[in-house]
Amino acid sequence: MDFSENIASAAALIRAKGARGMAFTGAGISVESGIPPFRGPGGLWHKYDPEFIELNYFYAHPERSWAQIREVFYDNWGGAVPNGAHKAVAQLEQEGCFHTVVTQNIDCLHQRAGSKHVLEFHGTLDKLLCTECGRRFGTTRKLIEPERPSCPECGGLLKPDFVFFSEGIPDDAFEGSFAAASGCDYVIVIGTTGEVMPACEVPREAKRHGAKIIEVNLQESAYTNSVTDIFLRGRAVEVMETLLRKVQACD
Ligand code: ZN
Repeated sequence: MDFSENIASAAALIRAKGARGMAFTGAGISVESGIPPFRGPGGLWHKYDPEFIELNYFYAHPERSWAQIREVFYDNWGGAVPNGAHKAVAQLEQEGCFHTVVTQNIDCLHQRAGSKHVLEFHGTLDKLLCTECGRRFGTTRKLIEPERPSCPECGGLLKPDFVFFSEGIPDDAFEGSFAAASGCDYVIVIGTTGEVMPACEVPREAKRHGAKIIEVNLQESAYTNSVTDIFLRGRAVEVMETLLRKVQACD
């Protein structure tokens, strides 16, 4: 099938009467917002040693770790805004096509685009967690400015509320994501290679429960020849904007 036939099949699946869907997204959806992926050529791990967000390293060297966290996540990504793919996902949610967006991204761009029910599998940059008292705070420049960012309540070390290496997935995101996956008729996978465990199991869980998988990626991924039913090759913005128009034309 060629691209336009695939788009038409995907739109028909999304618009099928009573169909319940979800989106599952990864770094590839945010690339066109200027956020680099972690893996692959040009990825963050080409330039930085990932140990700075390894949990034991963080506790052993909080100042060193925070210096890199500030640079990579808050200075470099600070100005990123949602792109057309995030907006198309939000629009499809608003039109009742998706009940959930599960994202592996920590950039909050789905929420900024208007998505309401977002499960952040790997947490978020927008909150800080006190490693002593467990309170959470909205991230502000003032809180992360000190060499060793500290809890305003108890003075404990603050950590960005995203999942570090060797850290577990938050229970609510984990359970919510798999519950959503087991109860949907289709998943649209956008911009992820499907290699990061256990997140990559979310679409596979949906497939095991009979869901159809629509995949939007620049290149073939671990899903393409295993679980994907409809492969839409291309940049996330272009494909999602085209798909949104097609879905809306189905009305
Ligand atoms: Zn505290």
